[in-house]
Amino acid sequence: MSADTCDTQHRGHSLLPFSTAIQQLVAAAKPLSADAEAIPLAHALGSVLAEPIMMTRAEPPTRRSAMDGWAVCSCDGSNDRKVCGAVYAGTSVIPSVGAGETVAVMTGGVVPDGADTVIPVEHTERKGDVVSFSQEPQAGRHVRQLGEMGDAGRVLLEAGRVLSSADLSAAAGCGADPVFVAARPRVIVMSTGDEVVPWATEPEPHQVRDSNRLGSIAQLIAAGADVIDHLHVPDDPEALRAAVESALGRADLLVTIGGVSMGDKDHLPSTFEACGVAKLFHGVSVQPGKPVWAGHLGEKFVLGLPGNPVSSFVMLETLAVPLLQRMMGGQAQMRPYQAGILGAPARAKKRERFLPADLKINSLGQLVITPRPEQGSGDWTSLAGADALLHVSAGLTLAAGEMAECLTISGATHLGVSGEVPNESV
Ligand code: AMP
Ligand code: MG
Repeated sequence: MSADTCDTQHRGHSLLPFSTAIQQLVAAAKPLSADAEAIPLAHALGSVLAEPIMMTRAEPPTRRSAMDGWAVCSCDGSNDRKVCGAVYAGTSVIPSVGAGETVAVMTGGVVPDGADTVIPVEHTERKGDVVSFSQEPQAGRHVRQLGEMGDAGRVLLEAGRVLSSADLSAAAGCGADPVFVAARPRVIVMSTGDEVVPWATEPEPHQVRDSNRLGSIAQLIAAGADVIDHLHVPDDPEALRAAVESALGRADLLVTIGGVSMGDKDHLPSTFEACGVAKLFHGVSVQPGKPVWAGHLGEKFVLGLPGNPVSSFVMLETLAVPLLQRMMGGQAQMRPYQAGILGAPARAKKRERFLPADLKINSLGQLVITPRPEQGSGDWTSLAGADALLHVSAGLTLAAGEMAECLTISGATHLGVSGEVPNESV
């Protein structure tokens, strides 16, 4: 096949535009029918809310000081005040402030009855038990009013929201623990290939470590999946068929690695179809990842990823993440790109491209996206330390300094909280 045909065709068919492929995949999916589950809030990062989170009391529930200072009544003007107590954050017995009096109050402390403002300590001078002020008291200043953040029943997070770290902070503020989240799709990861051996072994020169399997598991967990099993199957049609059938009986999503291209031992497309999986697409206009296969059997989905490590990585970030979000009831159709300045030239020919890239902040505070030197989709070393995938639209040539867009690679922190990467088990 000529290089040109290679960019536009796969198995004799025109390649599907990648954005169309993502849309078709997400459109074919729907939220899982499984019931929502209650999980500890600390494990909910990346999960999809099944029920809204709302405030259970007015916040703040009392007037509170926004500054370290002196609580006074503005009605006494800037006259000196007599000290009659102190309130710290956490003080529960609160003295009241009478005419001509003041109470020391720290940030977060309850503002005493009788006071309507707090004078910050930097505008005051204390001599013995008398405080004088260099700032005119103004009613309401530096006081967080009762209920100013909202009342009980205010919905802070809607069902369908993919929980971020900011959301977890607000949810914890509401005491929403446990939290009801959409059932996590059960996923099985299956690597294939006679040359592929367990990653924690010493391969022969003709063999390759099963690096994609572990990376894929990590990506899927980071995207909210419940990885219930992972295995390796050789390039044997019978063994593949048995393994695919078994996986489809147990999982909501089967992710396979390798065996979907043009080689004599690429048996998976025919295996999927023999198992009754309806093909959505095979071959998309993207680099890397062109041979990717996707289909479904009712509500169950199959993603057949090409075996090259960068290809499978890119396909999971771009296809599996929105698919999983949809299965969890989320609204996101496509992952949003983040804009930045290109740190080195980049170019896409006929297929749109994703390139492992480093992110840095320059001296002006701008995000700089620098693609790794071109190494091809088989070079798994280009994933080491990558922060993002630079996206270049088809036909685009970009010079360093031009605006560009990327998908940031997440997951490392999430893994520590919510999931464990299963140990090698082959
Ligand atoms: P395939 O898509 O099966 O033709 O594989 C393409 C390339 O990816 C080959 O060089 C394979 O050896 C390599 N490969 C396939 N599966 C894996 C895997 N699980 N981990 C690392 N490399 C793999
Ligand atoms: Mg193979």
